[in-house]
This record gives sequence, structure tokens and C-alpha cells, in this order.
Amino acid sequence: MIDSTGDGRRVLTRDFGTPGLERLGVYEEHGGFAGLRRALREMTPREVVDEIAASGLRGRSSGFPAGTKWGLIARDRPGPTYLVVNADESEPGCSKDRYLMENSPHMVLEGAMIAAYAIGAHQIWIYIRGEYDRPRRRLEAAVAELEAAGHLGPAPLGSAHALEVRILRGHGAYICGEETALLESIEGKRGQPRPKPPFPASQGLFGQPTLVSNVETFATAPWILTSGAAAYAAIGSPSSPGTRLFTVSGCVRRPGNYEMELGTPFRHLVEDLAGGPLPGHEVKCWWPGGSSFPILMPEHLDLGSDLESLRSAGTSGGSGGVIVLDDGHCVVAAARRLVEFYARESCGKCTPCRVGGNWAVRTYDALAGGWGDRGHLAMLDRIQAGLQNGRCLCVLGDSAGAVIASTMSRFRVEYEAHARGECRLCGLERIAATV
Ligand code: SF4
Repeated sequence: MIDSTGDGRRVLTRDFGTPGLERLGVYEEHGGFAGLRRALREMTPREVVDEIAASGLRGRSSGFPAGTKWGLIARDRPGPTYLVVNADESEPGCSKDRYLMENSPHMVLEGAMIAAYAIGAHQIWIYIRGEYDRPRRRLEAAVAELEAAGHLGPAPLGSAHALEVRILRGHGAYICGEETALLESIEGKRGQPRPKPPFPASQGLFGQPTLVSNVETFATAPWILTSGAAAYAAIGSPSSPGTRLFTVSGCVRRPGNYEMELGTPFRHLVEDLAGGPLPGHEVKCWWPGGSSFPILMPEHLDLGSDLESLRSAGTSGGSGGVIVLDDGHCVVAAARRLVEFYARESCGKCTPCRVGGNWAVRTYDALAGGWGDRGHLAMLDRIQAGLQNGRCLCVLGDSAGAVIASTMSRFRVEYEAHARGECRLCGLERIAATV
């Protein structure tokens, strides 16, 4: 994985590569905290929400309009309102939030502070993936700098809006990236999703109104407040304005993190920025949004990277991880690894996910080992149907189901071959026929 930045108009990574950007002084020399200054000194909280809404920024995971989400935070409840930065980046094939936190921790913090002012929160929680040691240390050092400079505390930048930041490490559970499981974890409970409603906007952390968004969404806010909503809306596509940071991994020459204007075809990301497939190989299929959404085929590389284009192809942009598989790899083996991951990370709260995931792994084991038959394909069909379409409490079940369903529908021939005990790529040769 290389540290890379992309091309075209850049919002998030424009100053990356500047020595010492993680320090407050250097960040401010490059215009840092101008957005927060403008918000605190010239705007009401409502005006900040309206500015974000006018920019068209959409959550960099759910795709939900950020301004609408900020505006939904209940303001009529007694007691505190909280802001939570979801830095528990655990999706297979994603490392772009790590990249942001490591390179520009003050940008992430400034964005969270702008949002906290907009929703009336005085306490910011950053829930960071436990394995992200370096980004956590960078954030902690940045918070210490901000406290020493008076940017955090009882009167940030001379305003009356007190702000404090708390950083909490996760302990390695993928499910704690789900917003309500994350809130449970902060509260010291087992990290399991809550039924919704109520949504965090009305009843979140410690039962109080809470805004939960991911690192990239917050990190975009300073640029919008500094340059204006209209400037942001002019970048990208009309329905998905702005840029996005993608992590490209798998069978490409230059895996890395790349910022690209939304709407730019994925072919530019995969072939130009990430260097295309490895020598002698071709793209066989790819995941557009981490491993949690249906796969796409080589011809889909000409799709625009905006959410609407992805939805028209029956998938989604998810957390921005693009995983490329080439023709030297077996899709059944790849699906097996992903399904095993989801089965291992299931919190166990609902039956289709807890039981179905493990049955899927056993079924894949039979197919991958060469002793499977068509009955195993029928079993996978039943399992994926039980996992999807709202039968599970959270999206983890749907994600496991999407891996099975989309690989089976696009690569039925490979699955059929495994059911006969044949796969050149896995070294299987009619083993089933000889046992
Ligand atoms: Fe837990 Fe899986 Fe149910 Fe999500 S779908 S709540 S991870 S058991």
C-alpha cells in the first residue's frame, strides 16, 4: 500500500506531503481553522447546518445528506448533545480514514468541532479502531496542541462554545463500526447493534441526541466552511458533489488511497491512478464499496463513481474501498474468505447471521475442498436469502448475503465447477469424482 493522493481538484489531500502537517502551526499556515473561525465568529449554528446542506455533502458511508443529518439532531431534549466521530475503520479493503487521521489530524478535529458547534454539542468522542495506533497517537498529540493553544476548552478561539474531545480505542470488533454498536461500546457495554428506531439523532450516546458520522465526512467540513458551499457543490457530479477518498487494493500495481472527484469513472481510479491489473492479467471483477456490497464486472469500470451510478448497477459506494480481483484468482475462494470474515465478526444477536454465517463457511469449505456437490449450491442460495432483505438487525447480515448472492449470480460457472470438484485456479481436478 502506497501513500498516494489522486489528481484533479482535491479537497482533503491538497496539502498532504507538506512536512509537519500534523502539527498545529503548519496546519494553520495552510489555512487550517479558518473554517472553524468563520463558524464560531460569523455564523449561527443553524447557518452552519444550512451551509453544509447547500454544499450537497453526503455521508461518506451511508450517502445520507450530511446537512439533513446534522439538522435532525433533537434540540428540545434536556441534557447534553453529543458528537461521535466513527474512526473504527474495519471494512476489508479500506484504510482511507487512517490516511486522513495520520496525515492531517487537525483537519479531522476541526471538522468535528465545526459540526459540534452546529448541533450544540460540547463533547466530542472519537472512537478509533484499536489497531490504529499511529493515527491515535497523532490525534492525541493534536488534541493536546489544541488544548494548549486554547482552541479546545471553555472558550475555543474566543467563543462561548466550550468544547472538549475524548478519544477511545476500540478492541478489534468489526461490528463496532455500526453506529449503535459503537455507542454501546462507548457506554462500556458489549458492542451489539441496537434496534432502530430510536435513532441516535434523538436517543444516542447515554440516551441523549447524538450525531455519529465517519472521519471523512467531518474532515470535509473545514473546506466547505472556508471556500463556501457553492464552491464545493461545483465539484463532482450534481447528485454527489465533491471528492471522495478511495482505497484501492487487491490485484493492482499501485494499491493506495486516492482522492478523486465524484462522478469520475472508476476506470480512471483503477487503471490510471492505481496502475491497472498486474502484468499478464485482466480484471475479473471488483468490489466498489469495501466488501459489503455486490460485486461489479470489468465493463462496469466505466461507471461514474457517484452514488446514483452505483445504485443503477445494483450496488453502492459504501466505505470507499475498491477491491480488484484478477483472472488469476478464484471467485469462490475469495467469497469464502469474506464470508468467513463476516461469520467471525457476527455479534450473534440475531439467528440468520449467527447461524447462517457459520453454515455458509462450512458449505464453502466443502466446495473449496473439492467434496461439494449441487446440494451445497442450493444451500448457499437458501442461506443468502435468509441473510438479506431486512431479516437481520444490522447490515452485517446483508453484507455476508451480498457476497454470496452477487458472486453466485455473476460466476455461476465457477461455482458449478467447484460443485463438480473442479477448479484450475484452486488446483482441484475432479477430486469429487474419485472419492
Ligand atoms: Fe449481530 Fe449479525 Fe445481527 Fe448484526 S446482523 S446484529 S452482526 S447477529
